[in-house]
Amino acid sequence: MYIVMVAPECAPVAKVGGLGDVVYGLSRELELRGNDVEIVLPRYDCLRAEHVWDLQVSYRDLWVPWGGGAVRCTVWFGFVHGRKCFFIEPHSPQAYFSRGTYYGFHDDAERFAFFSKAALEFLLATGKRPDVIHTHDWHTGLVPVLLYELYAGAGLGHQRVCHTIHNFRHQGVTDPHVLHATGLGRPEYFGAPDRMGDDLDHHAINITRGAILYANFVTTVSPHHAWEVRHTDLGCGLGPTLYRLQQKFGGILNGLDYEMWNPETDPHLPQLYSAATVERKAEVTLALRRRMGLRGGDRPILCYVGRLDTQKGLHLIRHAIFHALRNDAQFVLLGSGSEHGINEDFWHLKRRLEGEHDCHLEIGYDEELAHLIYAGADLLVMPSLYEPCGLSQMIALRYGTVPVVRSVGGLRDTVFDWDWSERPRVERNGFVFEHADAAGLESALDRALGLWRDEPALFRELVLQGMACDYSWNHPGRHYLDVYDYIRHR
Ligand code: ADP
Repeated sequence: MYIVMVAPECAPVAKVGGLGDVVYGLSRELELRGNDVEIVLPRYDCLRAEHVWDLQVSYRDLWVPWGGGAVRCTVWFGFVHGRKCFFIEPHSPQAYFSRGTYYGFHDDAERFAFFSKAALEFLLATGKRPDVIHTHDWHTGLVPVLLYELYAGAGLGHQRVCHTIHNFRHQGVTDPHVLHATGLGRPEYFGAPDRMGDDLDHHAINITRGAILYANFVTTVSPHHAWEVRHTDLGCGLGPTLYRLQQKFGGILNGLDYEMWNPETDPHLPQLYSAATVERKAEVTLALRRRMGLRGGDRPILCYVGRLDTQKGLHLIRHAIFHALRNDAQFVLLGSGSEHGINEDFWHLKRRLEGEHDCHLEIGYDEELAHLIYAGADLLVMPSLYEPCGLSQMIALRYGTVPVVRSVGGLRDTVFDWDWSERPRVERNGFVFEHADAAGLESALDRALGLWRDEPALFRELVLQGMACDYSWNHPGRHYLDVYDYIRHR
């Protein structure tokens, strides 16, 4: 199959969050399975160019009709760790992608509407006719709308679109005037409640809603989150639309990059190990204690690695720290927040815990330290209020660190409780709790600490069962191909 990804991010060349990892990881898996995959991205001025090989001009004068005139673009081509990537660079006074960062501008809707249009113009002009166009989040949500309304008659009539929603909190709700420049015009038609009109703001269009209506298939990043967004408020207003169109909506779990996250080859670890040599993990634990200034002794290390965001259940993370300290366990936290107040809170907590030999809070972003923590800790705490997919729990499992998670979103699809899961005993891999409160968290933490302390042989069994899970791109890759195949033949 020939697949073109149109995306706002691709790791590591243009990455803000998990979306970038998915675009890279999925593309790689699809190629390994014998498909032809190309990725179309904006040429941001802040691209990490050291990750692009052989960058060269691929198409010099792409004229993109825009707002009654046309914008000239240069399209670049290069390999990003083996992936074929095209970068669209518009030459216009608005300098859409030369702003020093990726998102966060008043005209984001216009910037990405332009990118969506330019991507289709590029396919049209170069004679590229993919079987499937895969778009990601609201930034590229106009692609299926434009394709169907404007480009089907112009030579792109056989292309099918799969649209993935990574984050329902950002939907591209914007003033309908954006549509004028794209050539869609008629804001009263497209902004109607049964088209792109936003369900909550009747004066705005909702680009994600447009993508849902026009794409041939829509996915989100885990099966349980696909249920949640239809049946709870986690759909952020899109629940009724998704419910109505559920025959073309589903959840596919993200995969983890098993090359980057591998305790057998990880260059950041002082000691490599595998399931067969899991006792060597103790060496990494020693190194972690040394690095974090924790005292030695026979007590388990709990950890949290991730963004410090309300989504992650910050009050429960704090509670877990104090619960660990009260129960003769240790705690290591690595995280940073984008909100000033949250970072301040955690700095305050860090100062309060100064001199504490069983706890270390590291506030900041540190890729290398993350590897050491995932490998050196015994338990990972993830009490998220919501979690579309979640990677940290999958990384922990891979490194033989037992996850203690709230039963929500992708966490529910990946972690199965040691004591009460419906899964057979040999498939259980962690501890799970339901309620986002102290009692819920403690019920799971106490069972985890109890097993570590009283039943080391069983705890080891649980560790090995976690390491045996396969959360690589292998299964998700196959599921996406099934979706592509399904829409291609309809
Ligand atoms: P989200 O996408 O909501 O941030 P995920 O669990 O899906 O959460 O993915 C987070 C990824 O980012 C993980 O790989 C995690 O290790 C990494 N990460 C988050 N915060 C930090 C940090 N402060 N330092 C190092 N790695 C981090």
